[in-house]
Amino acid sequence: MSTSSQTAVTPVNSDPTAGPPFSSLPLPPPTVANLQRLGYERMTPIQAASLPLALAGKDLIAQSKTGSGKTAAFALPLLANLNPRRFAVQAVVLCPTRELAEQVTQEIRRLARAEDNIKTLTLCGGAPIRTQIASLAHGAHIVVGTPGRILDHLSRDTLALDALNTLVLDEADRMLDMGFAEDIANVIKLCPAQRQTLLFSATYPDGVAKMASRFMREPQEVKLTERH
Ligand code: ADP
Ligand code: MG
Repeated sequence: MSTSSQTAVTPVNSDPTAGPPFSSLPLPPPTVANLQRLGYERMTPIQAASLPLALAGKDLIAQSKTGSGKTAAFALPLLANLNPRRFAVQAVVLCPTRELAEQVTQEIRRLARAEDNIKTLTLCGGAPIRTQIASLAHGAHIVVGTPGRILDHLSRDTLALDALNTLVLDEADRMLDMGFAEDIANVIKLCPAQRQTLLFSATYPDGVAKMASRFMREPQEVKLTERH
């Protein structure tokens, strides 16, 4: 069954400097200033297509190739939904591998405004769970990790998601390839129904479409296809 959604197919623009400026988005001026400091002046095509929808609170399915700037396309909406004064996990980003989760954590930390003191934790398998439990006990606003380890913390009650407002599935196609479908479904069961779900993928196979139709609410679709 297909999702009921609008599809905007936009060709990838090969000139990354041609996109609209971040200042055209409904972002607080300090966030735009921080982006400028990072050298982010203009949006990449996937950012220009996704950010207005995601910042308006829509569920979103976004597909574009690796290296096109998908991290900021979900990190900025996730940070916009966050209340820095509420010290509880308000966002979860599921990633296929530890390496990718660490990259996403780094990018979120760069994009967050320093004065907000946002705490972001990476939770992946292969790292000692005791250390992660101790870090979680100190509190966090954002958790980034692999589905298996996040589910492990949820079943131990060392992580609770009752304050979650944004769920991100990053590299959804790779997570399914790696056999994470069931773990993802079990994590989602423990997320509040009232939330924004953002799904990012480099490709859009049937499995990803099926997952989206199960877990998303009237998702908008943004797919960037390359012109040949
Ligand atoms: P993807 O997730 O699509 O593979 P990334 O989010 O990892 O892509 O971004 C690729 C690179 O582009 C990163 O080094 C990131 O810092 C940089 N980048 C992303 N958006 C912008 C932008 N608007 N302006 C300049 N650099 C950007
Ligand atoms: Mg990415």
